[in-house]
Amino acid sequence: MVIEDKKVVSIQFTVKNAETGDVIESSEGAEPLIYLHGFKNLVPGLENALTGKAVGDSYEVTVSPEEGYGVRDESLVQQVPMAAFQGIEKVEVGMEFQADSPNGPVVVEVTAIEGDMVTVDSNPPLACVTLGFHGVIEEIREATDSELEHGHIHGPDCKH
Ligand code: ZN
Repeated sequence: MVIEDKKVVSIQFTVKNAETGDVIESSEGAEPLIYLHGFKNLVPGLENALTGKAVGDSYEVTVSPEEGYGVRDESLVQQVPMAAFQGIEKVEVGMEFQADSPNGPVVVEVTAIEGDMVTVDSNPPLACVTLGFHGVIEEIREATDSELEHGHIHGPDCKH
């Protein structure tokens, strides 16, 4: 069996900032990543690199921002009045908040404060970063009908 659309795939992965070599996240010593292939659950550059691989194969791929988390969108930098942060004792640069967007919940980061105006940035933290992924394919199985219907895997801790 090889990785193709509608397969549930377990992979070990390490992702680095390809320019600095810094490790951003790794499954080493933790659970493998399990995902449904072909449903945009991974960044496109990684998903494409995994297509056709079999259990035991390793992968190594450099993913450009265009094939990764995108490039920065300056329209996602906004100014909001301090009054919008009700219930927060002290708003400081570097704080992160969950906010609603047309595409679902996003994390916004406070990047500047001037008087009563707060600048927030909801670009993904990895926007504009060239990423290096590597790891090994651990398991491949057929997806169930309900997984295909929902577009994601249903693990033991599935909430619905
Ligand atoms: Zn579901």
